[in-house]
Amino acid sequence: MRRFDLTLPRTVDDCVKILSDRGDDAKLVAGGTDLLPQLKNGLLKPRYVVDLSGVETLRAIRVANGSGLRLGAAVTARAIETEPHILSAYPALAESGALVGSLQIRNLATVGGNLCNAAPSADMAPPLLALDAEAVIVGPRGERRVPLTTFFLGVRKTVLAADELLVELVVPAPGPRSGGQYLRHTPRRELDIAVVGVASQLTLTDGVCRKAAIALASVAPTPVRAVAAERALTGQAVTPELIERAAELAVDAARPISDQRGSADFRRHLVKVLTRRTLTTALERARAARQEA
Ligand SMILES: Cc1cc2nc3c(=O)[nH]c(=O)nc-3n(C[C@H](O)[C@H](O)[C@H](O)COP(=O)(O)OP(=O)(O)OC[C@H]3O[C@@H](n4cnc5c(N)ncnc54)[C@H](O)[C@@H]3O)c2cc1C
Repeated sequence: MRRFDLTLPRTVDDCVKILSDRGDDAKLVAGGTDLLPQLKNGLLKPRYVVDLSGVETLRAIRVANGSGLRLGAAVTARAIETEPHILSAYPALAESGALVGSLQIRNLATVGGNLCNAAPSADMAPPLLALDAEAVIVGPRGERRVPLTTFFLGVRKTVLAADELLVELVVPAPGPRSGGQYLRHTPRRELDIAVVGVASQLTLTDGVCRKAAIALASVAPTPVRAVAAERALTGQAVTPELIERAAELAVDAARPISDQRGSADFRRHLVKVLTRRTLTTALERARAARQEA
C-alpha cells in the first residue's frame, strides 16, 4: 500500500477546502470498509486521505414529524439497523443496514460510503431508491440536491465531482398506510454480497395502491427502479395475481450479467421471486400501519 497523508477535518467546510486544494490526489474515508481493501490491493493510490470521522454533523440522524428523515452520510449501518424510528417507519432501510457484513463491519460501514462506493450490490441503495431519497452534496460551488435515481452513473461511478462530498440523505416520510421490505439472496448466509437485492415500498389509500416503488440491486451496473412494475400496481387493488404480474414486469428492468456468483438467468429468476416476496410483505405492513403515520 502506497504511503499517504491523513487529514482529520472537523467541519464539512474544511473537507471541501481540502478536496478543492488536493483534487484528484485526495480520497475521503468514512468507515474505510470499502476504501481500505482498495488501498491495500493497490486499486487506488491517493496521496491524501481525508478522514470524515471527526465531522460530527455527518453522523446525525434527524427525524422531523411528518416530513421525513435526514440521515448524515457517516451514519453507520448499525445505527440504521437499530434506530427505533427507522425500524418502525422505514423497515426496508433498517433491514438493509442489518444485512451489511458482520457486526464489526456494520459498526464502521456508513450509508454514505455504501452509496459513494457505488457497487451494484450496495445493500442500502435499493431501499433508499424506493423511498425516493435525495442526496445532499456539498462542494466549492455550494450545495446541490440530487435524486438518488440519478446519483449512480455506473460501477463505482457517481455524479460526485472530485471536490464534492455527500453530506446527507433526505428521505421523505412514506406517509400513512405504507410498508416496505428489503430482501437479498446470497449463496452464504453471512459475509457475502447480494446476488440480487430487492426493496419494495407500497402506500395504500382506501385499500388501493396509491404509490408503488421497487428497486433492484446487483442486476445492472447501477441499482435500478422497476418502473413498469410500479406502474402496473399504481391505482389498483393489490391482489396476489397483480403482485405476480408486477414481479414478472420487474424482471424487464434487470440487465444482469453472469459471473461466478450466479448466471443471468438465475438472477432474473431471483428478481421475480424477491419482488413477489417483498411486495407481499410490503402490502401486509402497509395494511397494518397506523392510519396517521
Ligand atoms: C467483510 C466485508 C463485508 C461486507 N459486506 C457488505 C454487505 O453485505 N453489503 C454491502 O452493501 N456492503 C458490504 N461491504 C462493503 C462496505 O462495508 C459497505 O459498502 C460500507 O457501507 C462502506 O461504507 P464505509 O463507510 O466503510 O466506506 P469507505 O470505505 O470509507 O468509503 C467508500 C467509498 O466512498 C467514498 N466516500 C465515503 N464517504 C463519502 C462521502 N460522505 N462523500 C463522498 N464520498 C464518500 C470513499 O472515498 C470511498 O471511495 C462489506 C465489506 C467488507 C470488508
